[in-house]
Amino acid sequence: MQGLIIRSTGSWYQVKSGTDVIDCRIKGKFRTKGITTTNPIAVGDLVDFDMEPEQGTGVITRLYPRKNYIIRRSVNLSKQAQIIAANLDLAILVVTLASPRTSLGFIDRFLVTAEAYDIRAALVFNKLDLFSEEGLEILADYESIYEDIGYPCYEVSALAGTNIDEVQAILKDKVTLISGHSGVGKSSLINRLLPDLDLRTHQISEWSDKGMHTTTFAEMFELPQGGYLIDTPGIRELGVIDIEKQELSHFFPEMRERMNQCRFNNCRHINEPGCMVLEAVEEGEIAQSRYDSYLSIYHANETRA
Ligand code: GDP
Ligand code: ZN
Repeated sequence: MQGLIIRSTGSWYQVKSGTDVIDCRIKGKFRTKGITTTNPIAVGDLVDFDMEPEQGTGVITRLYPRKNYIIRRSVNLSKQAQIIAANLDLAILVVTLASPRTSLGFIDRFLVTAEAYDIRAALVFNKLDLFSEEGLEILADYESIYEDIGYPCYEVSALAGTNIDEVQAILKDKVTLISGHSGVGKSSLINRLLPDLDLRTHQISEWSDKGMHTTTFAEMFELPQGGYLIDTPGIRELGVIDIEKQELSHFFPEMRERMNQCRFNNCRHINEPGCMVLEAVEEGEIAQSRYDSYLSIYHANETRA
């Protein structure tokens, strides 16, 4: 039988198959190409399993190829990574312009990471109820930066319940990762999207940096309109995975579409003559803030090059 992993504790997996949810174990080894992982299977994975009729539980026998997956590296065991979730259709970042203010650098790092993982991304600007006239203008400027390069933006108030239906519409029938730094109202928004769920009773233990000794525990929640939401408690930022410096510009859509026309095909887009990216920044076709984020990530990765 085929099913979808909706919850994992490290040794047991809850597999949704049709309308049933079956507790399953793993038989055999499941490897992820290229990395050593602390968990072989994660939420979002599609698997085959056999029922053990006497126990009422199942045994996972096959893992289907993933279209993408996100990992977290253990700080202590840097060679090992935990797969947080697989087969994501969308990653949304909840942000705010005030109390607290999300920096553009933070947004850009998130978007670069989503690009590197090959996951579509969207931004949800929360706390719309707090905006003054002037604030709304700044918001419109921010949104145009991101919408122009292909990232849909939504304006909501989780508190007042404004425009929640727009977010519900984009999540429908998708597996979506929801992120946001503390204080932006991510929990409030999740409570709007999953009104029947009391997150407090669903204690998801944070994945600590102690590596293999901690229980790994992730879960995805079924949305009333269809689809699933994955929250990553304890993961404040989707870390920029190991991106080679030369590849970084591929993960900025507005650079990606221009860089083939740079004079040098190994252009770093920093100070090279005939650089079409630099020209676009000068002409205001690429947002200065986006280019600044490029430079900042580029130089942060300096030591790794
Ligand atoms: P989290 O840390 O991102 O999960 O944020 P919470 O959902 O816990 O919200 C942080 C604070 O922001 C709480 O005091 C919420 O009441 C408040 N908050 C959340 N959404 C909104 C909103 O849309 N408008 C306003 N004014 N406050 C909000
Ligand atoms: Zn260039």
